Amino acid sequence: MKKIIKKILITLGLKNSFLYWALSNRAYLRKILKDLQGLYPRECPCCDFHGKFVAFGHPPRYDAKCPQCGSLERHRLLFIIDRDKGILDGVQSILHFAPEPIVRNYLQNKVNQYTSADLFKSDVDLKEDIENLSLPSESVESVLYSNVLEHVNDKKSSKIDQSYSQAKREINCYGSNL
Ligand SMILES: [Zn+2]
Repeated sequence: MKKIIKKILITLGLKNSFLYWALSNRAYLRKILKDLQGLYPRECPCCDFHGKFVAFGHPPRYDAKCPQCGSLERHRLLFIIDRDKGILDGVQSILHFAPEPIVRNYLQNKVNQYTSADLFKSDVDLKEDIENLSLPSESVESVLYSNVLEHVNDKKSSKIDQSYSQAKREINCYGSNL
């Protein structure tokens, strides 16, 4: 059957198609599909899940996403750094841009005053553009944003610097730009 389908694809001029490649490399394709479901058992610091993480992204990164809480590498890194270094210890208020649910829940339980902000999401406290913030200077203690600056409209470094400076302007003298 496989040979017949391959002959048909060749007849149709589709020898360079993904289907032809898949028929010719079925064992390799099976391995890739298996690996996408997880390579090694891991622990999630966000939800205490133990087991294999799944691939995520384009192109996919193996073992990137916790299947229980949906956390990615950057979320777990924040949890680990805070657990080991206490970077959020003592933080009273935080402005969280583009809030990811797993991080939002964590911060809401950790910080006294949590404020979420996003330009497009509707389930946030503030509609804010990180390129043009309307908040008064030094009005928040800390700002957290992850996977945000690469999405600013103008990819020029000056615009990213401006967004960083905008976020920094809102922070009072005791705060941090995370
Ligand atoms: Zn998890």
